Amino acid sequence: MGSRNLYLHNFGCQMNVYDSERIRQLLAARNYRLVEDPSEADLIFLNTCSVRAKPEQKVYSALGRFQSLKKKRPSLIIGVGGCLAQQEGEKFLHRFPYLDFVLGTKELGRINEVLDNLETLGKRGLAVSLGGRIDPYASLPLFPSPSKATAFIAIMQGCDNFCSFCIVPFVRGREVSRPSREILEEIRALAAQGVKEVTLLGQNVNSYGNKTPDEISFTGLLEAIHEIQGIERIRFTTSHPKDLSPELIRSFGRLAKLCEHIHLPLQSGSNRVLKRMNRGYAREEYLEKVNQLRKACPQINITSDMIVGFPGEEEADFQSTLDVVEQVQFDDLFSFKYSDRSYTRAAGFQDKVPEEVSRRRLMELQARQRKITSKRNKAWEGRQVEVLLEGRSKENAEEKTGRTRTNHIVNFPGTDDPIGSLVQLRVVKAFAHSLRGERIV
Ligand code: SF4
Repeated sequence: MGSRNLYLHNFGCQMNVYDSERIRQLLAARNYRLVEDPSEADLIFLNTCSVRAKPEQKVYSALGRFQSLKKKRPSLIIGVGGCLAQQEGEKFLHRFPYLDFVLGTKELGRINEVLDNLETLGKRGLAVSLGGRIDPYASLPLFPSPSKATAFIAIMQGCDNFCSFCIVPFVRGREVSRPSREILEEIRALAAQGVKEVTLLGQNVNSYGNKTPDEISFTGLLEAIHEIQGIERIRFTTSHPKDLSPELIRSFGRLAKLCEHIHLPLQSGSNRVLKRMNRGYAREEYLEKVNQLRKACPQINITSDMIVGFPGEEEADFQSTLDVVEQVQFDDLFSFKYSDRSYTRAAGFQDKVPEEVSRRRLMELQARQRKITSKRNKAWEGRQVEVLLEGRSKENAEEKTGRTRTNHIVNFPGTDDPIGSLVQLRVVKAFAHSLRGERIV
């Protein structure tokens, strides 16, 4: 079979990036190679996100655009996967009659079966069961991506927390940890391919293994990965503050390969709002964990997520959020306006915050954080950092780019060092979202 073209567009989080990579690998075995222009594609696959209204709308408008391509070339195959596909299921096929298949979050491994049915029987595919397969990766072969210094590894799927605003437990199912044996095997294979840095992914990595008594704990998993030769750096995301254990906090500074960065979503600075969000911690407990993290590892970079305009959020609640942001001095903050999500408890709350109020609060919060980020980035000027070279800079092809252990992006003048090299740089300038470095000889 000749080579065919695949246009793969990923929406949403790093878990989707990982899933998309698995899809790419499965389709490579079917002779598909990636193209950047959808008009050249034989197969268009959108890996979708439904965590907020915006990415959801982007998927719908992308599908609208692809309709004309399908009209011109009826043999073009169009499929969707991921969280929105899981949420909408069959409705997707009704709404977009030119869509060929819908794959849910736990059915990605069935993509070739779905394509076989489509090609031989002309049957449109729908596979969205959450119940059948507990581990969507079990059926996927291991093909580590070549020529990359970094890789994502899903260590678990789903979530049991049911935060009142979040759709994840409904579209990714209950929390299931992958067997550590499988994860370690995958990381060893990646290390053999030259991967130097792994990021462990899960909706709540801190509770890894909690439901399987004979499985190692998350800290145990970090220790086992630490032993793998060739892996120089370990990261993980996302951590739920309520499950961040003292043992895990102590790992920062104790495990040399564990990078000094933690993403610890707070979501609101108001205890009243946190309670309605069903987050399971109070602001004071969060602040105490931040203190402990900074005590264990003074240089740690702490980033967070915040939602403004959650139903019932009053001005005083919002002020508490601004106050906590000043107190913690996050290195960066990903902030969003609340939007109703299907199935969630908060969607049924009646006391919605008017759109213009949410917008104003978001702008105020982001302006406040920009100042803090800029001040914290500025403090890096003149300091020496170790950067893992990841490739060419996006802004300037003559320059190289990489990340510090604290997850700061550093761009620097080109060197002959290959991808995956650890380069020593001095930070010469700080910008809003990156640093500029110069080689230390
Ligand atoms: S912890 Fe809460 S916000 Fe995070 S995935 Fe689970 S339900 Fe969603």
